[in-house]
Amino acid sequence: MWYNRSVASDDLIYTHWHVPELGYALVKVRRTDSDLDEWALAETLDREKPRRVRVTHPLRDTPALFKTFSDLAGRSDQENVLAFADRYGWLGVTEGYLDCRIIEGTPKNPAPVELIHTWLDAISDMRHAVDLIDAVNSDDCRTLKQWITWHGAAAVYQRKFKWGSHIYRLEPEFDQWLRDVMKSGDMVSAAKVVAQKFINQGLNRHTATRLLFGDNREALRLHVVPKNLLGAMWIQAAQAAEGGRAFRRCENCATWYAVAPELARSDRIYCSRNCRFKAYRKRKDEAHRLRSKGMAPSAIARAIGSDAATVRGWLAIEPGRKRARS
Ligand SMILES: [Zn+2]
Repeated sequence: MWYNRSVASDDLIYTHWHVPELGYALVKVRRTDSDLDEWALAETLDREKPRRVRVTHPLRDTPALFKTFSDLAGRSDQENVLAFADRYGWLGVTEGYLDCRIIEGTPKNPAPVELIHTWLDAISDMRHAVDLIDAVNSDDCRTLKQWITWHGAAAVYQRKFKWGSHIYRLEPEFDQWLRDVMKSGDMVSAAKVVAQKFINQGLNRHTATRLLFGDNREALRLHVVPKNLLGAMWIQAAQAAEGGRAFRRCENCATWYAVAPELARSDRIYCSRNCRFKAYRKRKDEAHRLRSKGMAPSAIARAIGSDAATVRGWLAIEPGRKRARS
């Protein structure tokens, strides 16, 4: 649940999300108007324990979460959806759950559920948007040509993948504003329009505008606030589409993270200090393993992407010696 405060801390939307410590469970549900079973997420509850939640700030702390979410498109079975929900919380799109009956699994009815089907639709839409934004921001016309074809002044976006295909026809003949923003034959301008359609659809459904008090508790200001986690991720996608943001994938855990252009250090390849330390330990353990097979320090250095002096330093450390802590 969002705790939409009546006070905003700055220009950026100030909202947090609650992630239950016991996580979620997969349950089977049946809609009242259907005789088909489907998978859904429900919060795990334990009568013996008080309900505890972790408080997260997705917009502030994980600005690349929308990209990690879009990665689920390639592997969007319910187990991966569950793992994402356990880590970041569910989407908060529980509308209509009263029309669903849990027929297998706990908790028992009536409990809010989120249909896996809803997740897959959202993941698919986000993936379309993310791929378009990436291609636009890197001027990747070769990729865009696979999805966009021009027919005179009109462009057609057509893309199929396992969980969702989409066709958009952009016909400037009927839309004055399209004539203003699209140049015939130009892949990037057409891709921007399609990305805009996906993102605006997400923003329409999952964000709201609110008048909030500023930090001084006196002045009122207009803010955009996400209604749920999905809304927060659509705001992130919109910010990425504006440009000027760089994202990288952590070399240790594969999670995406944002790199502020002015802070972008070329050697920053991990999402957190924790991952940097884990990767360091992995390289060190690998060096010891290769050494035990008789490999020379210079060859080990090449194999693990380090330098020979560092590797020699590591190998001089006796096993069992007190380990460094981050
Ligand atoms: Zn990481």
